[in-house]
Amino acid sequence: PPSGSGAAIRRLDERTIQQIAAGEVVERPASIVKELVENALDADASRIAVAVTGGGTERIRVRDDGVGIPPNQLPEAVAEHATSKIGDIDDLESGVGTLGFRGEALYTIGAVSRLTIRSRPRPEAYGDSKEDPSDGDPSVGVDADSGAEITVEGGEVEEVRPAGCPVGTTVEVEDVFYNTPAREKFLKTDATEFDHVNRVLTQYALANPDVAVSLEHDGRETFATEGNGDLESAVLAVYGRDVATSMRQVEWRPTENETKAGSESGAIDEETNAPGADDGDPVRRVHGLVSHPETTRASREYLSTFVNGRYVRSSTLRNAVVDAYGGQLSADRYPFAVLFVEVPAETVDVNVHPRKTEIRFDAEAAVRDAVETAVERALLDHGLVRSGAPRG
Ligand code: ADP
Ligand code: MG
Repeated sequence: PPSGSGAAIRRLDERTIQQIAAGEVVERPASIVKELVENALDADASRIAVAVTGGGTERIRVRDDGVGIPPNQLPEAVAEHATSKIGDIDDLESGVGTLGFRGEALYTIGAVSRLTIRSRPRPEAYGDSKEDPSDGDPSVGVDADSGAEITVEGGEVEEVRPAGCPVGTTVEVEDVFYNTPAREKFLKTDATEFDHVNRVLTQYALANPDVAVSLEHDGRETFATEGNGDLESAVLAVYGRDVATSMRQVEWRPTENETKAGSESGAIDEETNAPGADDGDPVRRVHGLVSHPETTRASREYLSTFVNGRYVRSSTLRNAVVDAYGGQLSADRYPFAVLFVEVPAETVDVNVHPRKTEIRFDAEAAVRDAVETAVERALLDHGLVRSGAPRG
């Protein structure tokens, strides 16, 4: 192998560049699942079915009922830096409403696997006129009424073929990392890889209770949420009955500093712009579910926090939740939480590295206080923590 010093400086070839870039986005099967599920959510799916084999190292399949991709757009979907989500940097600065926007996920997944995308667009994507979905492109020659598919194998893009399928998109990834032996060595056992897949998908299922999310491993169902919009029902599906029945509702808004939280906060009229609820508030709402102090685990992993709908791993938020229990927890035990924090979009940074789930708040202390207060009050309302009770 070439030595680090003295060797001539050479441009890397396209293939090598592609593989290095792929390693950045596609670390392990769970990172592929994350990208594909985000695409399905961005495509307005109401059902997302994930099936993996061999912990995801053999095969990953994500099926959605979203808007779909027109046949002539399939080659674009797998092209480098190609996205339908932003047009220029201004779009990015004015705030992206989608989970993805870099246009590199499908491209990089295609570089490290055998990738097949089968899709059929929703009819309304073409408006009322029954337009030719191939856009007159004769090379496509397929009918969007039935669907089409494209395959990328180790970076080689094949031609679009007709393929009968329901409305929506199915992405299949096989032999992940088969052509990057160096990365294959870093993969852990199938059980460990599946554990990562399960954790990732659990967060999306909890963050999107209005979407029916299901996971299957080696043909066996791991969980399936109803997609009925009810957070408790999603918690029941992923964590089981014992945890679900121990969960208590959290609902906090800045205006509730004066008035005690009513039964249902549908009374708050967005139009009236009540004092204290305007854009100046660093935190607009904290809501979700937290567990009874006796329903705990020895890991912080079940403290799920979402900022503006996006899962974040934040020690600030997790500590705020734990502190709210004020000594009610046993040593090294942590509660379950599914907590949504809503803050003004411009006060958090979304332009983070694709793999990162950390976050930085402009008003960190205010966010922390709001979360602690919200959880504290919820526990208090349920008579679980006595105000001013001695700690320990
Ligand atoms: P990004 O999500 O950053 O735009 P991707 O490489 O993940 O980049 O996807 C490229 C494009 O392919 C997307 O912008 C979108 O137009 C299309 N696409 C990908 N997955 C789906 C899907 N499940 N349903 C509909 N369109 C999709
Ligand atoms: Mg994407």
